[in-house]
Amino acid sequence: MARKLTIKLACGSGFCFGVKKALRMAEDAAENHRGRIYTYGAIIHNPQVVAQLEEKGVAEIYSLRGLRRGDVLIISAHGSSPEILRKAKTKGVSIIDATCPFVARGHDFISLLYKKGYEIIIIGDRDHREVAGLLACSAGRGKVVTSGKEVKKRLKKSRVRKIGVVCQTTQRTELLLEVVAALLPKAQELRVFNTICDATRRRQDSARELAVCVDVMLIVGGRNSANTQRLLEICKEECRGSYLIEVAGEIKASWLRTATKIGITGGASTPRDLIDDVIKKLRNMGCDLKFRSEK
Ligand code: SF4
Repeated sequence: MARKLTIKLACGSGFCFGVKKALRMAEDAAENHRGRIYTYGAIIHNPQVVAQLEEKGVAEIYSLRGLRRGDVLIISAHGSSPEILRKAKTKGVSIIDATCPFVARGHDFISLLYKKGYEIIIIGDRDHREVAGLLACSAGRGKVVTSGKEVKKRLKKSRVRKIGVVCQTTQRTELLLEVVAALLPKAQELRVFNTICDATRRRQDSARELAVCVDVMLIVGGRNSANTQRLLEICKEECRGSYLIEVAGEIKASWLRTATKIGITGGASTPRDLIDDVIKKLRNMGCDLKFRSEK
């Protein structure tokens, strides 16, 4: 007789507001513009979605070199640097700016800190495009850190007059607190902007709640997605059987051998149909599934 497995889906799984908006803008461009259409880097960090857009004529580029007048350049939800925008404009390229408003808010805070003479600390993944954009807005006054330990190494001066902090939108609150605690003894004045977006915070909280009470946790999303990797970290802290998969075909029967409860969550750039494929695949693996979606 088939074993009974319960599947629970974490609330808020799948596309966030910023990703939906960026994709809508890219799809509109594909429908309405005749010329060549590019995104500067991946529009979102999900290879399947990027491949679908490419089929519609929206290609990914990492350099502006080949662009010419009349081309359309879409700036992704992660934003870009002021320098890229300026260069694209001088080439006569039409720009569609799909920067998420929560990312743009971080740019504004950095500009404010710069004008007011703060040393700027950016908490985030050094090679992430959102962080590169934030750093560019600091006009050379920003430092990227990834831990409290790094603060101690990189801020050599025992006391800095004014320090301002901005965080990559998809970081964990625990990391923000750790860095702020390390900075506090070094600053006469410490100004912190909590720029972790609400969608990220809610998604992380609900993934953790679910991971606590299941045997296997499947995190569906791009391996190149910062917010999906963070969900994996969080789930691993609560559930040893946590696995990141991009598509349903990656599920291994051995993961489920002794499980009775399976949790599913998806990154901000994971389309709902990829999550539905995972649910379907679990059904096809011969288990009798009782599907329950979290509120
Ligand atoms: S995760 Fe947050 S900041 Fe990033 S695109 Fe989505 S809503 Fe915007």
